[in-house]
Formats: sequence, structure tokens, C-alpha cells
Amino acid sequence: MTKKYDVIIVGGGPSGIFAALELSQAADLNILLVEKGKDIDKRSSLVCGLGGAGAFSDGKLTLSPQVGGRLRDYLGEADTEALIKYVDNIYLKFGAPKKLYGTGDKVDDIRQQASLIELRLTPVPIRHLGTERCRSVLKAMRTDLNSRLEFKLEVMASTIIVDNGEVRGIETETGEGFDCHYLILAPGREGADWLSKEAKRLNLTTHNNPVDVGIRVEVPVAVMEELVSVLYEAKLEFLSKSFDDRIRTFCMCPAGEVIMESTGGCDPVITVNGHSYANRKSNNTNFALLVSTTFTEPFREPIAYGKYLARLANILSGGVLVQRLGDLMNGHRSTPIRIERGLVQPTLRSAIPGDLSFVLPYRHLTGLIEMLQAMDKLAPGVASSHTLLYGVEVKFYSCQLQLSPCLETEVSNMFATGDGAGVSRGLIQASASGVVAAREILRRSRH
Ligand SMILES: Cc1cc2nc3c(=O)[nH]c(=O)nc-3n(C[C@H](O)[C@H](O)[C@H](O)COP(=O)(O)OP(=O)(O)OC[C@H]3O[C@@H](n4cnc5c(N)ncnc54)[C@H](O)[C@@H]3O)c2cc1C
Repeated sequence: MTKKYDVIIVGGGPSGIFAALELSQAADLNILLVEKGKDIDKRSSLVCGLGGAGAFSDGKLTLSPQVGGRLRDYLGEADTEALIKYVDNIYLKFGAPKKLYGTGDKVDDIRQQASLIELRLTPVPIRHLGTERCRSVLKAMRTDLNSRLEFKLEVMASTIIVDNGEVRGIETETGEGFDCHYLILAPGREGADWLSKEAKRLNLTTHNNPVDVGIRVEVPVAVMEELVSVLYEAKLEFLSKSFDDRIRTFCMCPAGEVIMESTGGCDPVITVNGHSYANRKSNNTNFALLVSTTFTEPFREPIAYGKYLARLANILSGGVLVQRLGDLMNGHRSTPIRIERGLVQPTLRSAIPGDLSFVLPYRHLTGLIEMLQAMDKLAPGVASSHTLLYGVEVKFYSCQLQLSPCLETEVSNMFATGDGAGVSRGLIQASASGVVAAREILRRSRH
């Protein structure tokens, strides 16, 4: 006989975990969490496994409705702000550090300086967990949940069962079926393709998000020190002069490391990312520069476009390319010897020296260089010829499901949260969106 649950959560990332924490306050709910990856201590995958992409992430908790997702489109500014506070307190309860960056008078000074050189600074309060603490915080949450809900790990949900416009359950890859009253889909970026296919099969309305394509920049720690000591992460935005594209900094990792990321399951694409440890410091700071492009029609496949660009770098290098800015500006590739001679040594040792102009479109490359030159006036040294550029960094946020303000899909009692549904782009809003769905389920199940 098929087992029936009150709630099934698909995906054990921050969104699924926070939904579970909220739901498990009700002692009488029978909850199942299905995660296709391994348990926190057993996993090696960067984005897959209990804890989600969050477990190995840099753990910067960005505490502003303006960054990390679109929750305010659903909840409004004030409710999103209140929810972010609520979620932040849970992170604190499970061991997040009290220190907060990005607040105070100095932030305003930097904002003014930035505005003089056509850069917009969005001040964001940030709590930095660091990769090690991020893992321990998520592990503490998992331990807390252990006795209160059922986990099925290394089990992949493959089919969503819907009957008459109402959710009935899921079927797993091995053909096992689980029934439920409520379903929360929180499959993250790793499961975004799957969710998008299921949405198509179920005839759900979806909207495309713009794709963000760019590079990861690596400079000596001293270059960014003044900014990061105040802000931890400088959220800067620039409109490219040549194309009027919006370009922004993203995921700044002071004294951090550049890393490779593989996404896409059986047909993986290798992209670049970054993180920093709380207690292990490198000599470099890295950050992403991303060009957000809302394409003209017809442009139906932002994920395919982003992957295609990343694949070009994969074809040329087998993975991630690295180039010195000076080499790019002089129109030649970087070589191992040129990199070796440079003042900045790559923290991602496996990156292959090459030429990013074979990979990125002229439009993107032009905007990225313009922004580096503008940033150089705020943080001298950013546009040094020794600055390292890694490619390609792509942020896939496709397939925004049509959702109600409580994140319910067009299928009754089926909710979609986190990065996979196009709701969030970071830990805090992913977590918060899990809480939104859980609260609605609690409200309905009490009636
Ligand atoms: C290297 C790196 C650094 C980052 N640094 C930061 C940072 O500093 N600050 C920040 O705010 N954000 C950061 N992020 C982003 C952050 O990790 C994500 O926004 C967040 O984890 C999204 O949470 P989620 O629960 O929506 O999805 P995820 O964390 O991706 O979790 C989804 C889970 O669902 C599972 N899954 C997928 N499909 C299925 C299926 N069909 N059946 C069962 N299970 C499934 C996956 O295996 C995965 O474990 C970083 C991400 C990476 C990769």
C-alpha cells in the first residue's frame, strides 16, 4: 500500500529545511523530506545532498529584501523584511555569528564615493558564516529535525502526481509512490531543469528569467580591503556605456578561493564560483561580475544560452579558463608562464590559462571591462593588468513558476520555493520562501 503523508518536501536545501523546521512545530503532521543527494557528512557534491547548495556555500546571509530573490514581489517589502528577520534569528539560534557587516556611517561614505563614478552601491547588512560554519549550522538543523520528520535520502522525486488540479503525491526514480495532501517543491538550481520539465508536462504557466553571464575576478586582498572591512560584500551596480546593460558585483569572497561548480546531472556543465572559509584565508579576494541581460524576442531558453557560453569555456579548457586582464586587453591569451609571472596567483589551480575573448560575446566583454575600469576608481588595483578573470560564471535562474502570494502553484496544495522555482537567489530568501509555504500549509491544516 502507498504510504500517505500530510506533507512531502522535495529537496533538502535551505528552502526545504526551513519549510521542515516551520512545519515540524506542529506535532501532529506527518512529514517526509526527499533528497536525491547524500547526508551532510557523507556528501562530496557541491550542490546536491542534504543542506543543498547551502552546505558548501560561503554562507553570507544577506539580510535585505532587495537582494537574493524576488520574495518582495509576492509578499511586499514590509512582510519580506519581517520574514528575513525571523529567518535570521533561526540561523542565529543554530550557531550563526552575531557580527554584522554593512551597517553604519562608513557605508554611506562609500555609497557617495561610488555615486561620483557612476556606480550604485546597495547597502546590505551581511552576516558571514563561512563555508565551515555554514555546514555546522545546517547540520544542527538536520539534527533538530531528526526525530520530527522522516528523511529519505538518495531518493530522487521523478514524477509529480496530480489529479483534478490537486496534488496527490510523488513517484520516485525507482518507481516508488508516496501520497500527500501538500507538496513543497524545493529542488534548487540542481533540480531546476527537472521542475521546468514537470511544469511543462502539467501545463503550468512559466516565465523566463533573464540569464546572468559573466566572470569571476580575483585580486590581492589589499585591493578590496577598504570596501570589504566595512561592507563584507560591496553590492555595486553599473550601466555599461556601450550597451546600457546592467552589470553587478556578486558573491564577494574576501581572502577566499575560486572554485569550480558542476551543474546539470548527467550532462554537466562546468562553471566558476567562489567561497571563503571563516578560518582559512587566502591572499586573494574574489567576486563575480555579472551582466544581466533581458533578451529581445525570441528568447525562450535562457538556461540553454548560459550553458552554451559555459560550454565554450569547457571546450577550450576542459573546465574553467583563467586570463590576466592585461593579456585580455593586449589581445593575447594567458599562458602558464604569463600567469606564473603575474602578481596574483590563482587560487583555483586547475583553471587553464587561455583567452576569454573566444568565449564571451563582445557585448558582455565590453561591459565587464568598463565596469572593472569604473571600480578601479573606488578600489585602485581592480583593473590592474595582473587581475585574474575566470570564465564563465553563469547564474541560471530560469523557469519562474506562476505562483500565488503564498507560493502555491496552479496545482492546488502544491507549493514551489527556493532557487529552483525562480523565487530566490540566495540562502536567506530560499530559507524564507520555505517558511512562507510552510505557514500556509499550517494555516490550512488547522482548519
Ligand atoms: C559555491 C556556492 C556559494 C554560494 N554562496 C552563497 C552565499 O554566500 N550566500 C547566499 O545567500 N547564497 C549562496 N549560494 C547560493 C545558495 O547556496 C542557494 O541560494 C541556496 O542553497 C538555495 O537553496 P534551495 O533550498 O532553494 O536549493 P538548494 O540549496 O540547491 O537545494 C536543493 C536540493 O534539492 C535536491 N533535489 C533537486 N532535485 C531533486 C529531486 N527531483 N528529488 C529530490 N531531491 C532533489 C538537490 O540535491 C539539493 O540538495 C552559493 C551557492 C554556491 C553553489
